Amino acid sequence: MRSVRSWSAALLVAFAATNCAAHAADEAAIKGALDAAFAKYKDLQEGKNADYIPALAEVDPNVYGIALITVDGEVYVKGDVSTEVSIQSISKVFTMAKVMEESGPEALRDNMGVDATGQVFNSIVAIEQYKGAEMNALVNAGAITATSMVQGKTYDEIWGKILGYYRDFAGRDLTVLEDVYESEAATNQRNQAIAHLMYAYGKIEEEPVRATDIYTKQCSVGVNAKDLAVMAATLANGGKNPVTGKKVLSSEHVPEVLAVMATAGLYDDSGKWLYRTGLPAKSGVGGGIIAVSPGKFGIAVISPPLDAAGNSVRAQNAIADISNAIGGNPYAVTPK
Ligand code: GLN
Repeated sequence: MRSVRSWSAALLVAFAATNCAAHAADEAAIKGALDAAFAKYKDLQEGKNADYIPALAEVDPNVYGIALITVDGEVYVKGDVSTEVSIQSISKVFTMAKVMEESGPEALRDNMGVDATGQVFNSIVAIEQYKGAEMNALVNAGAITATSMVQGKTYDEIWGKILGYYRDFAGRDLTVLEDVYESEAATNQRNQAIAHLMYAYGKIEEEPVRATDIYTKQCSVGVNAKDLAVMAATLANGGKNPVTGKKVLSSEHVPEVLAVMATAGLYDDSGKWLYRTGLPAKSGVGGGIIAVSPGKFGIAVISPPLDAAGNSVRAQNAIADISNAIGGNPYAVTPK
């Protein structure tokens, strides 16, 4: 007769084998979804590079890379995942997370707010409507304000903290793309106006010029698709970087970060995006989009041509297809 011990050993082996087979099937499904989405949108010619920041108009519109990283740290890539573009508005997520970590989630809710504006990302009308409140840290006004809320005495101290925080999310040293920074710094009069309005309404407490400059610098940080996917996967994994193992953001704050991404991550098209995918996400005018399937994976696509709302056309299509193909929508549940 078989001993209990050998039964349980046999069961364990059988269980491991089933697990392995399921894992291989998952792996094949993810790879297949990346390959299919890459091929489907490779030749799509819709959209146009952002050009209100002159350096962005010069970026090769054919750069196209997809990266997906699971909460177990498994990396799937397709296309160009080494070319860096400027992170732009995707940076807003991580500065917002830093403020949450330092001052608590209510600091953001009670200052610029956590609501959708329904307006374009650099809207001045949206500021005027509620005197700098009832908006969020993912549109320019709220984002420059969030940057002003990062604690520190000097420019260098604040900037060092922000860049260090992005590094921990990405799991590698990141640097500023100087040409993009200089180009935006020379043409960011509208953001300077936005910062001064937020200062006038008491949302930025001091140094609006410094806050705008640090914000411009954070938007110019260079990232490739893989960096962005690691950053997204860190949010998918409760704030712990699944590649480096470093805890970057308190798990209790991750849901609040994801809530603002779901509300406002794709600006005034956030509702359409959520309807299509259910995924908290964030776009940048450099052409990147990150999206988070909580507890499952982070995904990022870079492709510079944007639609009218300022969101990458190929990135939206590829992420939606891939996530929907592998069950990424957190609202989709199979009944028991
Ligand atoms: N740096 C850009 C700006 O302030 C970021 C905008 C974006 O990516 N939507 O206009």
